[in-house]
Amino acid sequence: MIPKETIDKIFEAARIEEVVGGFVQLKKRGANFIGHCPFHDEKTPSFTVSATKGIYKCFGCGKGGNSVSFVMEHEHYSYPEALKYVAEKYGIEIVEKKMTPEQSVRANDRDSLYVISSFANKFFQQQLWETKEGKAIGLSYYKERGYDEETIKKFQLGYSPKQKDALSKEAIKSSFQQKYLEDSGLSIIKNESALDRFRERMMFPIHSFSGRVLGFGGRTLQKDNKAKYVNSPESLIYLKSKILYGIYFAKQHISKLNNCYIVEGYTDVISLHQAGIENVVSSSGTSLTSEQIKLINRFTKNITILFDGDAAGLKASFRSIDMILSEGMNVKVVLFPDGEDPDSFAHKCSQEELKNFLDENSKDFITFKTNVLSKNTKDDPAKRVEMIKEIASSISQIPDDISRSEYIKVCSRMLKLKELDLAKEVSTQKNKRTSPFPAKKVEGNIDNEKNESTKKEAKEEKEIVRLLLNYGNKTLHFGEETISIASFILTELKSDKMIFETKAYQMMLDEISDLLEKEGKVKLEYFTLHFNPSISRLTIDLITNEHNMSENWDKRHKILTGTEETKMRKAVESSLYNLKLKHLDVKLGNIQLQLKENPEDVGRITKTYAKYLQKRKQIAEKLGRTMC
Ligand code: ATP
Ligand code: MN
Repeated sequence: MIPKETIDKIFEAARIEEVVGGFVQLKKRGANFIGHCPFHDEKTPSFTVSATKGIYKCFGCGKGGNSVSFVMEHEHYSYPEALKYVAEKYGIEIVEKKMTPEQSVRANDRDSLYVISSFANKFFQQQLWETKEGKAIGLSYYKERGYDEETIKKFQLGYSPKQKDALSKEAIKSSFQQKYLEDSGLSIIKNESALDRFRERMMFPIHSFSGRVLGFGGRTLQKDNKAKYVNSPESLIYLKSKILYGIYFAKQHISKLNNCYIVEGYTDVISLHQAGIENVVSSSGTSLTSEQIKLINRFTKNITILFDGDAAGLKASFRSIDMILSEGMNVKVVLFPDGEDPDSFAHKCSQEELKNFLDENSKDFITFKTNVLSKNTKDDPAKRVEMIKEIASSISQIPDDISRSEYIKVCSRMLKLKELDLAKEVSTQKNKRTSPFPAKKVEGNIDNEKNESTKKEAKEEKEIVRLLLNYGNKTLHFGEETISIASFILTELKSDKMIFETKAYQMMLDEISDLLEKEGKVKLEYFTLHFNPSISRLTIDLITNEHNMSENWDKRHKILTGTEETKMRKAVESSLYNLKLKHLDVKLGNIQLQLKENPEDVGRITKTYAKYLQKRKQIAEKLGRTMC
């Protein structure tokens, strides 16, 4: 358990634009920051961060929250994990009681996999730096490859010893369960005992976006070993299609340089970093996926693929080009000289030469494809047609109409084609490929909507809470008397002994009432930065819309003008009446049910029914009056 005071300290220290900025490229827009939403796919940025309010909100998918809930949502962290993440960022120490054995058993599977991966990562590094075998075999190998100590430490490279159960034994000694050794793929269970998957291998840990170890790649040292690389199998935390090797070390550089290099493997990433090219990642072992491209899209629209020109690589690069284009991003390609890959090349030349080489050899995808394909077309018209169709196919992947027609223009000039002819071909290919399944629509609102709307009264109750949060401190005049909207609403609800049916809303109501008593007003930041993440999320959902996230809103709405007050008063009253009507309707419905079940009681039940019906009529009349 993290003590409440520490939680408060964490919320106080957190700057939302810094926390979110670690994951999303933000641009200043007035008093707010704006960027591409990391939670859904979008072309124009609708993800807004308000530094003054300490919250974020996406107007595309509806997700919203504070610094801590952002980290929870983004990293799939639990609440304590997210708190720890933010605490660490701001140097706040968390003094926590050590978990008892029972508690650690209960810690969920995902957490256990993170913990065991981190344990293994430390183990492999320790083997590399501190054991005779590790130093003799591992460290000397890395140094031979040209990695300096700084690089080895930065990428947390390690060594797995020859002994067949070195890691497994050590893990079990440290009271890890065999189950997690198996689930993480670190061990293979044979005859009920755990053997290491990685033996006598150079270990490359694979980090998540936020730097947690998810899995490993292990390179053999024996020339005759057929399995040059062995990789962790997929697990709850290691999903190959969703992670890019090196993203943790590259993300800031990608964003700053507004370009991302993609290379084939671990060694290419590491060597380029060491050579001063740090905006580089690898899809490592799998072909590039759309999820990986989307990951990059959070930081930049520009991708440059680096690859060595063997036939297999060429084909893969064509596929990658089309995938990147279809995500609406720009793609360039650098082809390396025969027999060289980024890794070997980086060790052969100076930093300066490498940078120049990359700059001078990045080719637009059309130029690249044309160069490659026209090599063996010569003047053969059939082959030329094939090439044109191949390039048209790439252009047809571009989702944006304007970009597509721009590329058609450029390409027709390069290939000496009529623009119209190329445009026709592109459009034919585009139509041919159009999926019969329409893209899944993003869900309209955040999760609380799903649970909360089950109650019949939810909509009306939500509206009351929304008014309380947004306008609670504004005042209404009743003759000589002035009363805040919050007090007005709460008094009304209390006089009717109204209890909200939706738990979350009643919880908010209680807290607002408490706060009003203690502080005399509704303090928004108390709720947006509430230690209960469902309350903060709910609040943010209720106080954010595009209108009131705009910078002038707060200023303009400090005081209500006369007509505004009249409007506001009507809004408050009609919401209260609507709520009361809804509660009465539910009651009346229940009474009818009672009558069906207890027909013998008809006299008494009808009386109650009439009483509520009369009440309903009165309120309906009042509501009618607020409408004029
Ligand atoms: P060498 O020293 O022979 O060049 P290498 O370790 O650089 O060996 P390559 O065969 O050149 O490996 O492959 C380049 C990159 O491709 C590696 O860094 C590695 O990340 C990746 N790679 C190769 N084979 C696999 C594999 N089976 N699984 C995952 N990644 C692989
Ligand atoms: Mn290599």
